[in-house]
Amino acid sequence: MKKVVKFGGSSLASAGQFKKVGDIVRSDSARVYVVPSAPGKRDSKDTKVTDMLYGCYALAEAGKDYSKELKAIKERYNEIITGLKLNMTLDEEFEIIDKNFAKKAGSDYAASRGEFLNGKIMAEYLGYEFIDAADVIFFDKEGVFDPEKTNDILREKLSKTDRAVVPGFYGSLPDGKVKTFSRGGSDITGSIVSRAAKVDVYENWTDVSGFLVADPRIVDKPAGIDTITYRELRELSYMGASVLHEDAIFPVRMEGIPINIKNTNAPEDQGTWIVESTCQKAKYTITGIAGKKGFCSVNIDKAKMNSEIGFGRKVLQVFEDNGISFEHMPSGIDTMTIFVHQDEFMDKEQRVVSGIHRLAKPDSIDIEADLALIAVVGRGMKSTRGTAGRIFSALAHADVNVKMIDQGSSELNIIIGVSNEDFETAIRAIYDIFVTAAI
Ligand code: ASP
Repeated sequence: MKKVVKFGGSSLASAGQFKKVGDIVRSDSARVYVVPSAPGKRDSKDTKVTDMLYGCYALAEAGKDYSKELKAIKERYNEIITGLKLNMTLDEEFEIIDKNFAKKAGSDYAASRGEFLNGKIMAEYLGYEFIDAADVIFFDKEGVFDPEKTNDILREKLSKTDRAVVPGFYGSLPDGKVKTFSRGGSDITGSIVSRAAKVDVYENWTDVSGFLVADPRIVDKPAGIDTITYRELRELSYMGASVLHEDAIFPVRMEGIPINIKNTNAPEDQGTWIVESTCQKAKYTITGIAGKKGFCSVNIDKAKMNSEIGFGRKVLQVFEDNGISFEHMPSGIDTMTIFVHQDEFMDKEQRVVSGIHRLAKPDSIDIEADLALIAVVGRGMKSTRGTAGRIFSALAHADVNVKMIDQGSSELNIIIGVSNEDFETAIRAIYDIFVTAAI
């Protein structure tokens, strides 16, 4: 049995947290590859090291004095080293970083040092080999992650080492320059290492015991999710459920490796299992609810639209020409509605309206703003009758007006459009009908 264990920033924010991580890694000899994030916040008022690095580098790039800021970053690491009683120093690394900042090595390089330095400490603390992610994780010259080159080289490297630390979040471009993933990208590194080493489990350690059925800021103490499929998770993370980076699923998915989300502060909790497929039934028909505010709908009317070939294509062409991606597109006999992100659309709305008039010649176009989309996701919905009925009666009882309904053909999700102001009420009503009522 082999496992990759990835630890998030809050799990590595201080020496105390590092000790918990050390205990977790040592308690299971299968935990052979460790992927650390940079130190996160020690409390709610603290600043993540990644953000400190971005801030410090912005000064360097503007030609301003950044020495105080760099010193504060070094102190964060020194505090960890001292707290762990390690016999090491990062003086040399900080000298190099200082020189590279002065040479304006780029903000990706700057941010990546958070994980790089934490990886050095972690390797020393655990007695594991340190592998610089820049040597094994690659992007192409357009800055797009190169999965096959990475997989070949990383697999080869890992086959020669029994236990190693690979820092998260970054890799390198063909010219050797450091490039990072988007924020939260250490989750992706963990998944890449899992795929390359063909491990049995990818454990992703964070500060919560897995995924919850709904956002705890909206629903009071929501139930947890024991098992979720990759596809369900994708739907939920796209709609805002944020525990794992949404791109972290792809590499492990290629090898069918399950991900186990675990809590560093409560390691005995079983957490959430993310799997390809399962015969385990979700506890409550639905697996989860997530949503986002800030959408607009563009409602297009044209008599006999349904019999006009090419109408939809012409409308979508206008969105494409304006570089706007659409979220949903429910349609009727004489109507078609396009849901778009309000912030992406706002500046271009009049161009889109005139473009549609010119190309598709509709009778009228009406725009509605300040809408929210809610995804009710669950593999159990396929085999259960009446799910949609229950959702809509719950919403009616909560006095929420439903503006749009869209059921994916996989029957894995139902998307509901409501006004922004009804968003929280709607989520609570759906949660109550499926979860509270079932407990
Ligand atoms: N440290 C990076 C961030 O704050 C990457 C990560 O933690 O996954 O986004």
